[in-house]
Amino acid sequence: MKRVKYTIANWKMNGSKKSIKIIKSVANHIKNTSHKKSTVVICPPFPFLAEAIKETKKISFGGQNCHHLSDGAFTGSISASMLKSIGCKYVIIGHSERREYQKEQTEELNLKIKIAIKNNLKVIYCIGEKLSQIKIRNKILKNQLNSIPKQINLKKLIIAYEPVWAIGTGRTPTTNEINNIHQKIRILLSKKIGRTKSQGISILYGGSVNPANAASILNLNQVDGALVGGASLKSSDFSKIIDSYS
Ligand code: PEP
Repeated sequence: MKRVKYTIANWKMNGSKKSIKIIKSVANHIKNTSHKKSTVVICPPFPFLAEAIKETKKISFGGQNCHHLSDGAFTGSISASMLKSIGCKYVIIGHSERREYQKEQTEELNLKIKIAIKNNLKVIYCIGEKLSQIKIRNKILKNQLNSIPKQINLKKLIIAYEPVWAIGTGRTPTTNEINNIHQKIRILLSKKIGRTKSQGISILYGGSVNPANAASILNLNQVDGALVGGASLKSSDFSKIIDSYS
């Protein structure tokens, strides 16, 4: 089954108002390249989202998080409906940095996925083991997949496999390992939601993807794209990654 490929940028808490020029430059690059092999999504920090969305239709945009409830007294938080209302199409949920620093866990993540999809956002749901969990990776990934609610529109779900030890470290699993782990994730999904439905879900790899290793990772048969952190902050690097599909 042919799945959608995605190249997704996660700027995290980086950049400034001036970073809009990265978006302009990536949009120009997409305009000037004849082939379009992946859907490109950028997730800048919240304050820059609205301006970014107005800048181009060549790129889709997403939030890096949303609250698990629709509204209320939650100072500093942002709801899924707010993201939708300014033109966001995507939201990252369950990033390891939020699991670690904001202590986000299964139940809260389950509600976040539900409310995001209810608001017609596509969810980029991140899963991945820590270095100390490599030996029990399957169990960790299975538990993290348990946050996926039953009876959601699975067309709105994208999985990003991001080994925590590979994020921002310059280290990655071998390409063989990446392919095998993605295959295992699809088997876990298949047990949860059925084979046919699991075949349609894009599984992205994230963790130290850069212009030098992108082609070897993105063209693996089990990999449907990348979630890119550090290398998405430089338009030339991100553009090279976008060009890495064969
Ligand atoms: C991320 O945090 O989602 C990520 C993949 O970061 P990096 O590419 O910098 O490892």
